[in-house]
Amino acid sequence: MSPGVLGRWDKRHVWHPFTQQAEWAGREPLIIRSGRGVWLRDVKGRRLLDGNSSLWVNVWGHRRPELDRALKHQIDKISHTTFLGLTHEPAVRLAKKLVDIAPKGLSRVFYSDNGSTAVEVALKMAYQYWQLRRRNSKTKFVSLKEGYHGDTVGSVSVGGIELFHARFRDLLFKGWQVTPGGRHPGGRKPGSIMIDPGFRRGDDMERVLRRHHSSIAAVVMEPLVQGASGIRLIPRGYLAHVSRLCRKYGVFLIVDEVATGFGRTGTMFACEQEGVSPDFLCVAKSLTGGYLPLAATLTTEKVYRAFLGRYDEFKAFFHGHTYTANPLACAVALANLELYKKTGLLGDVRQRTSELSAGLAPLRDHPHVKEVRQVGLMAGIELVQDKRAGRAYPAGARMGLKVCDEAITRGVWLRPLGDVIVLLPPLAISEKELAFFIDVVRNSVILALE
Ligand code: PLP
Repeated sequence: MSPGVLGRWDKRHVWHPFTQQAEWAGREPLIIRSGRGVWLRDVKGRRLLDGNSSLWVNVWGHRRPELDRALKHQIDKISHTTFLGLTHEPAVRLAKKLVDIAPKGLSRVFYSDNGSTAVEVALKMAYQYWQLRRRNSKTKFVSLKEGYHGDTVGSVSVGGIELFHARFRDLLFKGWQVTPGGRHPGGRKPGSIMIDPGFRRGDDMERVLRRHHSSIAAVVMEPLVQGASGIRLIPRGYLAHVSRLCRKYGVFLIVDEVATGFGRTGTMFACEQEGVSPDFLCVAKSLTGGYLPLAATLTTEKVYRAFLGRYDEFKAFFHGHTYTANPLACAVALANLELYKKTGLLGDVRQRTSELSAGLAPLRDHPHVKEVRQVGLMAGIELVQDKRAGRAYPAGARMGLKVCDEAITRGVWLRPLGDVIVLLPPLAISEKELAFFIDVVRNSVILALE
């Protein structure tokens, strides 16, 4: 089909996520035809480096032979069967693999389809657990301001981004939201392991848990970095601190590793960097290497056992999705996870992390760059109109989009979060590809803000 027709049909019939369609209608759509390695190719033959890993999912680049083979192999057996009342090899083997690599104590895997549902599952399991334990008052959740856990109503209820979530307030369940560390909205520099005294002495989290723990089911948070609110770093030590508080006050800890899981921060899971093993671990995105939608909520035997009983006690977890544990997705996830050790990917990610950090350093002095924030291969460049006064650009100026448009003309696909330029290249990006990526990003910021 010709690009012209595709573009017209898209504008006539398609509604894109997180998109002002009126703006989209006035732009020439970027139509992707294929991909190989870190490169996307559009219908006009342009080659673009996939600078946001196809929304933070891609690990090896596109068309990785081992993953393609796993998928084709599984197609020849079966593409889908229900997981309600049946089981199958890819899901069982993947569960075992996930338990093997997850932080200690997480031994049960509940599958779903995406990051939002992985979080919904954790919220509902935590809620039901306390009911089964006859602690009926423990029904509320504590989450972090500027947190993001997905777009279904439960995960929006524990979300803290004004722009995305405030409009739906009356639709949401109530809980507490606290500021991580109290005084460090931008967070600390990557690499710092100091525990900030601000959250040792009577921080928001401790106050809320001390006063209200008897009504709280769980705390839910992203570890190390709040991605969707603009790659905002959480002070180092805060996750471990919250984990200790949860134990002290008898509240579950749900860690949302949908964005950070599977190596994005340089370790398999970000939790590892603070020695934390949560009660619930939510994973999705890179689980399948960026191939297919699949998610999992991992939990402990303690939680699992609370749901056991005779059928007519109705303790079962009444939750599930039609495509839960889809065999194609599980097979490709298994092939993905098997490659980590074989290729030494995490070592490469750490090396690329240092290169990215060194490459972006000059931008810190730019008069319109407020901050460059980075953890692992996840970075955000925040643009401001007036650096000294900390004044943002007017939203309508679309400065983030301008920088990304500039990058596209130079061969890198990027999508901003407001005026934060988000950089998340595929984890297996080579040194040379990363150097190209950094060069384009630097030039695009400089040229677009001239
Ligand atoms: N949790 C986190 C930390 C995320 O970054 C995201 C998506 O970006 C989600 C949950 C939601 O995942 P999904 O878009 O797959 O529902």
